[in-house]
Amino acid sequence: GKKHKVAIVGSGNWGSAIARIAGQNTQRHSDVFHPEVQMYVFEEDYKGTPLSKVINETHENPKYLPGCALPENVVANPDPVDAVKGATMLVFVLPHQFIHSVCKQLAGKVDPNAHAISMIKGVEVKNGKISIFADVIQEALGISCSALSGANIANEVAQDKFSETTIGHRADAKGRENAELFFKLFDTPTFKVGIIEDVAGVSLCGALKNVVAIAAGFTDGLGWGDNAKAAVMRIGLMEMKRFSEEFFDGVKPETFTETSAGVADLITTCLGGRNRKCAEAFVKTGKPFDQLEKELLNGQKLQGTETAREVHELLAARGKVDDYPLFKAVYSIAYEGIDAHDLTSRL
Ligand code: NAD
Ligand code: 13P
Repeated sequence: GKKHKVAIVGSGNWGSAIARIAGQNTQRHSDVFHPEVQMYVFEEDYKGTPLSKVINETHENPKYLPGCALPENVVANPDPVDAVKGATMLVFVLPHQFIHSVCKQLAGKVDPNAHAISMIKGVEVKNGKISIFADVIQEALGISCSALSGANIANEVAQDKFSETTIGHRADAKGRENAELFFKLFDTPTFKVGIIEDVAGVSLCGALKNVVAIAAGFTDGLGWGDNAKAAVMRIGLMEMKRFSEEFFDGVKPETFTETSAGVADLITTCLGGRNRKCAEAFVKTGKPFDQLEKELLNGQKLQGTETAREVHELLAARGKVDDYPLFKAVYSIAYEGIDAHDLTSRL
């Protein structure tokens, strides 16, 4: 049959790391995949040259994944519509705040039989309703969309340090085919892909663990030690699972306790993630999160503070804020000026 053509929509820290793997695996499985991988780059100036041009000339993304060679079959493209032209597999890996504007540009421009996967760690709350981004993309573009999430600090994956990840797919035949195709695109000896039929559970784990990571960063800023952080992680995992079961039908409990997307991602994010890092600095410096994001992340984006706000908005609309004391404490400390020392008195 015809070979699958891959487009990566996004080129940040994780987007670039995942483009590297896709570039390698399309060559490894040349019977299945077209050799070229397009990568949409939100254009910006990099030291006087457009970033997409720098990437295509140096085969590196020096802004978001410095020091990591990208395979030459990964082609940076500043035009999202052109980047997805002819693509039969689309990988969405943008910070969640940008997905709507990009989907708007792509609507009606993608192959209706294409498969999509969302690697976005966030949720959308609108009019008292919550959505995962796999559903947002599926509805905006009319194509089947699964989710991939796991314990995947991008800089480690980019150096081929061992990690696992999880694809959560839909229950129908197209969903199963989708998972098998993306398994082939991403699985390597050092990046092991697991599969579970739970697109919502996988997506929600990836979003909600970032809220817990903010709390873990607070404990670091307070100098409270490992026991306190472990307690935050335990309580956080319970709230993640309860929240997901309350607002989404059919999420599987084992997604939370047995997959890389669940407990493993929670652990790695609370130890080594950007949300943790900025939350520690928030306690130590007293600076607001948006300022710390700019000062500490060099253009990379925080997802946890936005997700804490969105989760709070939903819970407030449903009168359930007090049922989730850790989520509530994170929101109150990040947005309402409550002292971080009050974190555990509120649990
Ligand atoms: P990032 O944090 O590096 O964000 C920077 C990216 O956002 C750049 O590509 C930039 O061009 C783009 N951007 C900035 N303004 C934009 C705009 N107006 N429109 C479109 N794009 C714009 O991004 P990332 O690390 O690739 O994260 C993408 C998603 O993957 C997030 O949801 C994140 O939680 C998730 N994720 C990240 C990691 C990680 O370790 N970095 C690991 C797993 C999952
Ligand atoms: P941060 O966004 O907090 O760095 O988390 C990265 C991640 O999702 C690791 O799996």
